[in-house]
Amino acid sequence: MRTITLKTGEKVPVLGLGTWRMGERKSERAAELKALKLGLELGVRLIDTAEMYGEGGAEAIVGEAIAGKREDIYLVSKVYPHNASRQGTIAACERSLQRLNTDRLDLYLLHWRGSYPLAETVDAFQTLLKQGKIRRWGVSNFDSDDVRELSEQSGGEACASNQVLYHLGSRGVEWELLPDCRRAEIMVMAYSPLGQGPLLRKPALAALAAKHKVVPAAIALAFVLRQPGVVTIPKAVTPEHVRANLKALDVSLDADDLKALDAAFPPPKRATPLQMT
Ligand code: NAP
Repeated sequence: MRTITLKTGEKVPVLGLGTWRMGERKSERAAELKALKLGLELGVRLIDTAEMYGEGGAEAIVGEAIAGKREDIYLVSKVYPHNASRQGTIAACERSLQRLNTDRLDLYLLHWRGSYPLAETVDAFQTLLKQGKIRRWGVSNFDSDDVRELSEQSGGEACASNQVLYHLGSRGVEWELLPDCRRAEIMVMAYSPLGQGPLLRKPALAALAAKHKVVPAAIALAFVLRQPGVVTIPKAVTPEHVRANLKALDVSLDADDLKALDAAFPPPKRATPLQMT
């Protein structure tokens, strides 16, 4: 598995497994667990989850999927903004650790900005770091001005990652946020890299998929992964999807491919506010 290196030296696999919408329905649980286990069997080593997903249900499934393999996995979870006070963040992290059946997270993110001052959440993250309950911390859904504000907080420079919406149909981050994060050595985690599905029916993707002998999803993933400092976390429950997404790692998009993608999915021509799913 290809990796990128954080400013602190750790290596992070570029392709992971998302878990939003998992843990919501009992009838889907077995299939969701199977999909995560299949991903791990096939060599995926990064899992993204959150206390929000299935209100803890997704973390419980992840905990089961990684049992006995924890050392090999880069595990990411997130705190709800309404829990992100000084004490609330610590308590939320402890609940996540319990559901995940582990003693530490590799990366803990503030899911989006809420009403608690950033200084409080950063303070809580620092406590969790000292306690060894998290290895690094970061944010999600932070636009350029939020990232700047965070960098001005005491301790804010330790932010390791910003998880944001980025896919072919939503390229606004390429204007300012991606270059800003790259300069600050903040890893960008591209979420909803498949545009949650409908994006994959666009003819331009079908043509490139045929050329590279992969499915359209692999082209969409290769597109976000061509950016330095970017990792991505597609979610898939269907086993063929789990397998097909891994093929993105073998796709190298050439100048003609990128030109065709630019024509079908134009890059930004001006600054636009960060979109959120
Ligand atoms: P996504 O990964 O863009 O799309 C998921 C959808 O695509 C599912 O319906 C899945 O179907 C389908 N799919 C997966 N692989 C496919 C393939 N090879 N061919 C065709 N369809 C395929 O959407 P997402 O779940 O919104 O985003 C990914 C992850 O990012 C989330 O699960 C979550 O971990 C994270 N996220 C974070 C935030 C945040 O605010 N920080 C927001 C959104 C998402 P099946 O399940 O049937 O396979």
